[in-house]
Amino acid sequence: MGEKLSIGWFTFTCCEDSSILFVELLNDHFFEWKKKIEFKHCKMLKTKNVMGPFDVAFIEGAISNDEEANEAKKIRSLSKKVIAIGSCACSGSPSNQRNYFSPEQKARIAPLLEKFKLFGEVKRLDQVITIDGRVDGCPMDEKKFLEVLNTLLEEVKE
Ligand code: SF4
Repeated sequence: MGEKLSIGWFTFTCCEDSSILFVELLNDHFFEWKKKIEFKHCKMLKTKNVMGPFDVAFIEGAISNDEEANEAKKIRSLSKKVIAIGSCACSGSPSNQRNYFSPEQKARIAPLLEKFKLFGEVKRLDQVITIDGRVDGCPMDEKKFLEVLNTLLEEVKE
């Protein structure tokens, strides 16, 4: 890895609450992280984003369609490490609520799935790509996120 940890932050099917939490964490960590992190792709922080390569990509949200799956695969190919962020990415829930609908409910939403080209079942991230770590929680467990990030920052120094 280089001197700075180059990161990408991405969201798929989700409410982006962990992304908001990440921005909130900048209130306390911005000046420290500015020295150590290159925010290569982070749409909530900047308009000019570069699509990799990344030391690490953080991905929030579940995967609902081919477009998202293909984008996740592209991110994977450009990243040394991928970390699943939040319960939706880690386990699919709660973005995958429709997976547990009754047959009647599923029949009622079938036209919408077809119209918007959505998968029959919403997938968690590791059903689509290999991941290297996870930060569970809804939204993500802040303490665990800092642990994971600090470990990654330590690796940069090595
Ligand atoms: S895990 Fe929770 S906070 Fe994160 S995207 Fe899903 S619903 Fe939102």
